[in-house]
Amino acid sequence: MSFYHRGRLVPKLVIRQIEAAARAAGFEPAADWMEHALQWWEAGRPVRSWEEVARVVAICRACPDRDEGRGCCGLCGCRVAEDGGALRNKARMATAHCDRGHW
Ligand code: SF4
Repeated sequence: MSFYHRGRLVPKLVIRQIEAAARAAGFEPAADWMEHALQWWEAGRPVRSWEEVARVVAICRACPDRDEGRGCCGLCGCRVAEDGGALRNKARMATAHCDRGHW
């Protein structure tokens, strides 16, 4: 697979290839995160407002699947927090949602 189109490096082709390799190696949380990031990028990088992020974080904090020590969802392993840009915070990515349908 080439990472280039018309001589230019295409980041999403790189991410897709890494995602496939991570999934094949059994690193599902890493592969899932890359899938979220790619969908977000392709949608034009939309973000939730900070008020909406706070609402999402409150839902996660009340969830038994949360890993509060790491500030992550214990299921998908993604960081869900009040701060941080979308690539470091699933709650900030407007295209990402809870795998259990809580938000
Ligand atoms: S993302 Fe969903 S399943 Fe994970 S901790 Fe938050 S509410 Fe729970």
